[in-house]
Amino acid sequence: MKTYTLRGEAPPDHEHEPVFTETPDGPHYGKETCKHCRKFLRWCPKPENVEKATVMQKRIAMLSCLPLTGWNRTFILYLLERKQSRFSPKQEEHINRIAKENGIDE
Ligand SMILES: [Zn+2]
Repeated sequence: MKTYTLRGEAPPDHEHEPVFTETPDGPHYGKETCKHCRKFLRWCPKPENVEKATVMQKRIAMLSCLPLTGWNRTFILYLLERKQSRFSPKQEEHINRIAKENGIDE
């Protein structure tokens, strides 16, 4: 496919082709824009944040299978339902504490 250098020059029915650019000044790791029309496609999270979120999500999934009670249970089921990809330091602290209390340290 031809690469168009000017905005608005690409045919409207083209398939966007993502090009990654680092954005060191912003909160995101980088962004993807279309090679052809330069349309913004998505923000890219920092790889280390994705890895951290995966560990947290796994912990939450494991904890949700345990017979938790009270606030711990409400908290874990709430997080499970929200499927969030970012956790506040406080949330991480609680997740890690509940995991530790229940013998999960993976
Ligand atoms: Zn495009």
